[in-house]
Amino acid sequence: MNNTIKFSLKTSKNLNDFFMQKTSFIEYLNINKNLNEVPEGILLIPILCNVLPVSWMLDSTIVINEIDKTFYESIIRMKNSYSNLYPKCNFKGKLLVKKIVDYEIDHNEKYLSFFSLGVDSTSTIFNNIDKNPLLVNIRGSDIPLEEERGWNFISEKLTDFSEEFGLEKLFIKSDFRKLLNTGNLSDKFQKKLDDGWWHGIQHGMGIISHAIPYAYLYQISNILIASTYSRTESISYGGNEIPCASCPSVDNEFKFAKNGKVYHDGIYNSRQDKIRIIINFLENNNKNDYLHVCWEKTNGENCNLCEKCSRTIMGIIAEKKDPNHYGFKVNDNTFENIRENINEFSKNKITNILWMSIQEKFLEDKEYWDNNENIKWFLEINLKLEI
Ligand SMILES: [Zn+2]
Repeated sequence: MNNTIKFSLKTSKNLNDFFMQKTSFIEYLNINKNLNEVPEGILLIPILCNVLPVSWMLDSTIVINEIDKTFYESIIRMKNSYSNLYPKCNFKGKLLVKKIVDYEIDHNEKYLSFFSLGVDSTSTIFNNIDKNPLLVNIRGSDIPLEEERGWNFISEKLTDFSEEFGLEKLFIKSDFRKLLNTGNLSDKFQKKLDDGWWHGIQHGMGIISHAIPYAYLYQISNILIASTYSRTESISYGGNEIPCASCPSVDNEFKFAKNGKVYHDGIYNSRQDKIRIIINFLENNNKNDYLHVCWEKTNGENCNLCEKCSRTIMGIIAEKKDPNHYGFKVNDNTFENIRENINEFSKNKITNILWMSIQEKFLEDKEYWDNNENIKWFLEINLKLEI
């Protein structure tokens, strides 16, 4: 049973600095169908999605043998969307294809959803639970490929989650984060992107594309990827979207095999709304929690100290719930840590808006929180970014 795609590519010398290796693999664990049934024009989509931005930004040419027609046509639309997100960058490059083939999967009501146990993807699962989404997690994305302990922890937790909620799961193993030299790419383009390579331009298509060969093989025509920011959060930031690799204007243009669609899910919910959705769903259905937001500790547990842990802890408290019941360990030191680091945490372009909305939530019931020594200071602090 062939369950692994092996890619290899050749590049001209001037691109050597931007690649760490010239081969890459994607393994679909425990599948019962053969990847040999998937045509080349579909199998190539993941590697292509990871190298396309390199060709756009460096104005280089990619030559491939075959590609799916629907996906081929969405490339230009995704490229346009990125070019609107990053007006300082010049999106050039060429894609030369020998054969464009019109592959087709059924239009159906089957869904798969990327799932990491974090706030965004958990609320996407609960919001779409009636669609029975298949849970997809990539080993080698958030958790480094070589990290055994963290992986064991997460895969167990994810397996428990899938059993608790009666959903199927798929684990994918991939070394796609070892393919590009994102350090060098970030150095070269950080200024123009105002962001690093992975966050700014790789992780959207790069992740989504991993699902395509599987979706083709199992005829799943709907792919969900959870949003980070809501429309309202984006507007308060000053635009329709907060630029990053995974934005609605890019992800929703990702189409494949005629009927295959991608949905950037959750843009009408702020992070605070998502926390509320999760808490309410767990309470109403009498289910255990599985929240895991932290990538600081490689052993897989929430560290309770980093920006993301702190932000989620405060978000849960703002809903008047105890974070200790939702996967965190909180005591007086937690608040001291947040207080000490609040400037570093919140005065960051990416996270500022999220901290401000937590503060707003607390302020909805100022009187209640004024009596809480751990929180009172947070009501009064100025979180505004000075630009
Ligand atoms: Zn953490």
